[in-house]
Amino acid sequence: MNDATLDHEAIIVGAGFGGMGAAIELMRQGVADIAILEREDDLGGTWHVNHYPGLAVDIASVTYSYSFEPNPNWSRLFAPGAELKGYARHVADKYGVGKHMEFGVVVERAEWDDDAGRWTVHTADGRTRTAKYLVTATGFLSQPYTPDFPGIDAFAGDIIHTTAWQDGYDFAGKRAAVIGTGATAVQLIPEIAKTARRLTVFQRTPIWVVPKVDFPIPAVVRRLFGAVPATQKAARAVNTSLLEMLMVFGVLHYRQAKPGNRLAALLAKTHMRVQVRDKRTREQLTPSYDFGCKRPTFSNTYFPVFNRPDVDLETSSIVRVEPDGIVVDGEKKIGVDTLVLATGFNLWDVNFPAFQIVGREGRDLGKWWRDGRFQAYEGVAVPHFPNFLTLNSPYSYSGLSYFTTIEGQMRHIARLFSELRRRDADRFEVTERANTEYLDESTRRLADSVFYAGDCSTSRSYYFNQHGEATLLRPQATLSTLREMESFPLDDYVYG
Ligand code: NAP
Repeated sequence: MNDATLDHEAIIVGAGFGGMGAAIELMRQGVADIAILEREDDLGGTWHVNHYPGLAVDIASVTYSYSFEPNPNWSRLFAPGAELKGYARHVADKYGVGKHMEFGVVVERAEWDDDAGRWTVHTADGRTRTAKYLVTATGFLSQPYTPDFPGIDAFAGDIIHTTAWQDGYDFAGKRAAVIGTGATAVQLIPEIAKTARRLTVFQRTPIWVVPKVDFPIPAVVRRLFGAVPATQKAARAVNTSLLEMLMVFGVLHYRQAKPGNRLAALLAKTHMRVQVRDKRTREQLTPSYDFGCKRPTFSNTYFPVFNRPDVDLETSSIVRVEPDGIVVDGEKKIGVDTLVLATGFNLWDVNFPAFQIVGREGRDLGKWWRDGRFQAYEGVAVPHFPNFLTLNSPYSYSGLSYFTTIEGQMRHIARLFSELRRRDADRFEVTERANTEYLDESTRRLADSVFYAGDCSTSRSYYFNQHGEATLLRPQATLSTLREMESFPLDDYVYG
């Protein structure tokens, strides 16, 4: 059903892999008039914004890609960031979604008009656009977090957040400081250590790091992947299964499979034992929370950095920043010329959702989530929000590779829009009952996870929201997620 009074049939916010997946699926379902609004100046989401040295995928590329568009040309098992960006461009061209993208368009607000049955989307340039369907694909890690350290504004040197990297920045002769030891810092720190005169790593909470089995993919294997796609499919299946075991036994079924979790921690500790010479440094780098409470990472180059005489690990709390350095507890001052903020992202205060979304009867999504509980049926739909799918939602992240989440959501879109077509309807809304059942079931399942059955008290993990609930991950094996996404009961929605 086309409505000539609308600007578009569907608006998708975000031109990363999630938004592109949604666009591909909507187009398959016959939704042709789509606008993909993107605040950045190019597609690729995370892989456009992040271009710090050392950036690479940390899920093997055979798995970190769309299953329907395998890329036989990955140069390494874990492709560098630039290849991911190239892959995004290739997919956008091949599947015809690139022409729907508009860049530099910042969405500020969207509201549902129940009488007209449409969304109105307001952008920072003062324009409004209307659409029948709204899909948000704004990413989980898209709102950079900069701590408000006292004195930071008066720092005399350069301050670089990892999401705003100055390409070619030269650390030679500089005393560098990196604040943060998350997955980003783990990739970046070895690169900075190569050139900086001195590097101080400010660690508040250590991270579990396991070995990264990475190597260039030989040309002969790439040719084989290209000529016989089943071989790459098989490699994907093996790798995805290994990741799945880590996720299901190490994290989601912690209560039943504690030894699996302990084994992963042992692997990480042994990796460190082999790579870090100093005992005290090893102690400082060892997490005091269970494996999986916080997203673990993979690296072979992070730990050895701490053997270098020109690298210091600082674990005292930061008290203030002065123009030429950082003062930590005990009034110890560390001289700094360049301050790198590898301080990650704000998820729960500003990213869920990434802009104001107002549904039926004035329900404000962000306020509703924050005042009550974070929730979304199957990680995609919310009651009181007709014709709205939110891809980066509570309980949506499934498996370890983001593509598992994306492809599950594509299946959900396929089933939902097929039903709309069958009914000749143009309106859907998830029922309160279905949403509550999904929330209750997710809560029940999570009780077995490391988040509740393990010890995460010291982890400061972004998996937990401000209410202390671990509402980011979908507590189900990938295969059951995919099955559920393509077979959910159709009467979980009402149609009109
Ligand atoms: P992150 O995991 O949130 O890490 C932020 C770091 O900054 C933490 O170590 C945090 O310490 C520290 N920090 C924040 N505020 C601080 C403060 N006031 N004082 C001292 N330290 C502070 O962010 P990230 O490293 O950017 O990684 C985010 C996610 O991006 C990863 O978990 C991963 O999912 C993804 N990622 C993926 C790849 C990939 O290859 N696929 C690469 C990079 C990132 P606390 O832990 O104490 O809060």
